[in-house]
Amino acid sequence: MQKIVILGSTGSIGKNALNIVRCFPDQFQVVGLAAQSNYALLERQVKAFRPSVASLADKSAAAILAKRLQGTGTEVLGGPEGVIETASLPAADRVISAIVGSAGLLPTLAAIYANKTVALANKETIVMAGELVMREAKSRNVAVLPVDSEHSALFQLLENRKSHEIKRVILTASGGPLLRLSEQKKKTISQKEALAHPTWKMGPKISIDSATLMNKGFEMIEARWFFDLPESQIDVVIHPQSIVHSFVEFVDRSLIAQMGFPDMRIPIAYAMFHPHRESLPFKLPDLTAFPSLTFEPPKPKSFPLLTIAREALQTGGTMPAVLNRANESAVAAFLEKRIGFLDIHKIIRKVLDAYSPSPINTVDDVLLADRWAGLKTERCIQTVSRK
Ligand code: MG
Repeated sequence: MQKIVILGSTGSIGKNALNIVRCFPDQFQVVGLAAQSNYALLERQVKAFRPSVASLADKSAAAILAKRLQGTGTEVLGGPEGVIETASLPAADRVISAIVGSAGLLPTLAAIYANKTVALANKETIVMAGELVMREAKSRNVAVLPVDSEHSALFQLLENRKSHEIKRVILTASGGPLLRLSEQKKKTISQKEALAHPTWKMGPKISIDSATLMNKGFEMIEARWFFDLPESQIDVVIHPQSIVHSFVEFVDRSLIAQMGFPDMRIPIAYAMFHPHRESLPFKLPDLTAFPSLTFEPPKPKSFPLLTIAREALQTGGTMPAVLNRANESAVAAFLEKRIGFLDIHKIIRKVLDAYSPSPINTVDDVLLADRWAGLKTERCIQTVSRK
């Protein structure tokens, strides 16, 4: 029986992870759940899974939850420090880190410091502080398992391979809902159109990141740290059907793909059961029902954020943390209808151009860069939205 904590249990990954727990009640016991502010759903999850601790980062939401859960035996913690405490519960073996955005960094580090196996869905943690996170995990002999479908694919392809055998890895990108749209049309695209992802069902932030391809830029940075590969060995190809989740090209020019129907439950389960594979009771389309598979290079002009992400990765240090925060704030501003779709990359470019990166020695270096970028991005957003 594995004792698990789910950080971000009310989000898309968290709900899927709980679905898997529901299918395997003899294999998992939920000991902690954490979310941002959705107390109504967290209350239902607590009543169904009976964890010893539930936490909400939003303190007023936590107060409501505490009232509703009185007498149930589940302790309610509030505030970011409550989430961090949940991430490091002594009873837990494995922590599924699925908080969206930079709020996932400190809880994920807390889980690593507490020697938990981490199933990491929160890619922003790796983008912001991949070097630090992997260094801390390695020094404690803590496994950090990727949940992101592309990295789950690469992880499966690269297990027990020597680094000198690898020529490059190729991340696949669906291209998002705006792949064939002209730049002119993108100017006036609505939030709803940008959110309509063609193949994956995901939360709003990552759906916008998929439409801009920032998501793939982040995934290049993720691959850098998960697999200790130089930037020059990480490529991206557009594959609109999302059936191939990534390729590894070996030095003998053999190209190996990991494939499957685009359903996040598969990589989530892989990270939950690893090192074992479990038979999953889901009905999915058969191979013969798969669409034809196509591959094309991403056009740099259509996806400037892919180029910007590669530059940030090359620069290194605190630059990716600034990229992450600039993107998080710009995407939020787009979702709040304060700026247009094409303003996202323009604002991010401005913020990065104004920044002088430094090396990452401690987590404070990352948090400082994050704070600087938050303020700078907000000023850029205000300039654009006033026009
Ligand atoms: Mg992905």
